[in-house]
Amino acid sequence: MSRPAIAHIRLDAFRHNYQIAKSAHGGKALAVIKANAYGHGAVPCAKAIESVADGFAVASLEEALQLREAGIQNPILLLEGFFEVLELPKIVAHDLWIVIHHAWQIGMLLAAKLEKPVQVWLKMDSGMHRVGLSPAEYTSVYVQLSQHKNISKIVLMSHFANADNLNIAHTQQQIAVFKNATIGLNAEVSLANSAAILAWPESASKWSRPGIMLYGANPIQANAANSVVTTVKDPLRTVMQLTSRIINIRTIAQGESIGYGSIFTAERATTIGVVACGYADGYPRSALNGTPVAVDGIMTRLIGRVSMDMLFVDLTHIPTANIGSLVELWGDLVPVNAVAASANTIAYELFCNIKRVQFEYSDTAETIILK
Ligand SMILES: *Cc1c(COP(=O)(O)O)cnc(C)c1O
Repeated sequence: MSRPAIAHIRLDAFRHNYQIAKSAHGGKALAVIKANAYGHGAVPCAKAIESVADGFAVASLEEALQLREAGIQNPILLLEGFFEVLELPKIVAHDLWIVIHHAWQIGMLLAAKLEKPVQVWLKMDSGMHRVGLSPAEYTSVYVQLSQHKNISKIVLMSHFANADNLNIAHTQQQIAVFKNATIGLNAEVSLANSAAILAWPESASKWSRPGIMLYGANPIQANAANSVVTTVKDPLRTVMQLTSRIINIRTIAQGESIGYGSIFTAERATTIGVVACGYADGYPRSALNGTPVAVDGIMTRLIGRVSMDMLFVDLTHIPTANIGSLVELWGDLVPVNAVAASANTIAYELFCNIKRVQFEYSDTAETIILK
């Protein structure tokens, strides 16, 4: 038997979540599948929605070429544009759209000799202060680019810093800054990430850019600041179920400790299970004692320090558990957001870190095993 750590990826749920994102926002939706589709596998995820997706967004030319080589013909946006001028001929050859966020890119783009003009998504820094043109210079740059032979079409875009927090006005302020600085520009607009799609209808425009919600992790429900909305039924379906199996069971006496650093000491006789999954698979080492885990469908808790290849779970109240029992680390019973909160991180990081495990893809009826 090979090592039982498996990431089950439900492509039908991914497709469902794309439709939810698109219809919740209206207009068109670029499915954000950067970073190997947040760890889920960019090519299978793209293939699962290629017939319905308005386009895809990735972080680099390399990520886009992987999709093109797999036969994906939908529009693809490079979210950071290009990093050096040598990328431009390939961007043109593969019909990619580029974000332009800084003057250095504009200089290179306008000086280049291109076979065909490219579509540009002109990014404004409306308040996140990461990348983007300032609101003050935005219109003049737009006018300059719109008259240039290297540019076919310009979409106006910006990105939110706090759309997952319903208790502060920053998102509305960013929308106002953006609207003010684009008065009179007759062009398509793209503002909303997942959190804005779910929580800020006033951010709606021609193009949404859903990412994390496609993978079934609701960023509004993840933010503890939003306690009021956590009772709303989540329309998203779980895409990744991370499972492994029990490979050892033993009972330790009161006062005995387990694992590296002996961070868990039994207060009474405790049955422990050892699970074949560790931080080298992407399960967070920072997860605290008490992080939820399910064994054979019964909820229990992580105990002890997560090691590279194994972790411990408490089986004291699950006498039916045995060698080979199925352990869900996150998925249907264990919300990925709960594991993330316990590890002081976010679902995005947990997903992106998944590696070494076997990936099993299912789409309604069929199951495909990769690796
Ligand atoms: C990653 C990214 C997104 C998607 O964000 P989510 O929070 O995952 O929905 C949207 N827009 C830009 C510019 C991004 O970098």
